Amino acid sequence: MDYIDPHIHFVSRTTDDYETLAKMGCVAVSEPAFWAGYDRGSAEGFRDYFEQLTSFEPSRAAQYSLRHYSWLCINAKEAENVELSREVIALIPEYLDRPGVLGIGEIGLNKNTRNEATVFLEHLDLAARTDELVLIHTPHLADKLPGTRMILDMLTSDARIKPSRTLVDHVEEHTVREVLERGYWAGMTLYPTTKCTPERAADIVERYGPERLMVNSAGDWGPSKPTAVPDFIFEMRRRGHDESLIRRVVYDNPLEFFGQCARFEFSPRG
Ligand SMILES: [Zn+2]
Repeated sequence: MDYIDPHIHFVSRTTDDYETLAKMGCVAVSEPAFWAGYDRGSAEGFRDYFEQLTSFEPSRAAQYSLRHYSWLCINAKEAENVELSREVIALIPEYLDRPGVLGIGEIGLNKNTRNEATVFLEHLDLAARTDELVLIHTPHLADKLPGTRMILDMLTSDARIKPSRTLVDHVEEHTVREVLERGYWAGMTLYPTTKCTPERAADIVERYGPERLMVNSAGDWGPSKPTAVPDFIFEMRRRGHDESLIRRVVYDNPLEFFGQCARFEFSPRG
């Protein structure tokens, strides 16, 4: 089955992973800007990173007929440095017109601090002023529920940000309902250790239906599995679900969400 991984960090993966994903049916990936594994020392470091996201990774993906899209921001882990964050937010507009850029992300919270909230709101302001889609990272483990609530409150406090143009990622059983009820798109991250498993994601689809739900691998530096979306497809098939339902979650929904970006270009496989 053709599928899309809407959240995967290929800067931290090998070229072999592109090949494996292509062989498993992946036709497109979207890569949000995130933490490099170390704190970058200057805004110039982000310039290099945005170059990598918007030129090198798309060309690496194209060798395997994969489309590569990206999202730009300074991540929540580095948002404690508000001065650096403001410098990075100021340079993002220079890169927004690049082919394959879908919007602002993954912005959000990490430890739910005041500085993280300040930088989140300033990213939202940029997204509103430039009419960009938004992709949001929600915190881990014990910080997830309060952090998700803080994020939803900040989102609703800015009337310019439309729920239908915003994806709230890394939802789990205790956060998905509120995200969907408020009209946002929700992403389930399939991780071997934390976040969701393919089985739990299948349970969530069975409980809430496929509307505005997606799954991703978030493949990154740490223990993660870039082929987690095919694991979800396999689990859904094992449970006897229709191909059309599975396809909606892993293909149609990402296309519908991305399609709201004026720059989005995609031709389905003939
Ligand atoms: Zn991520």
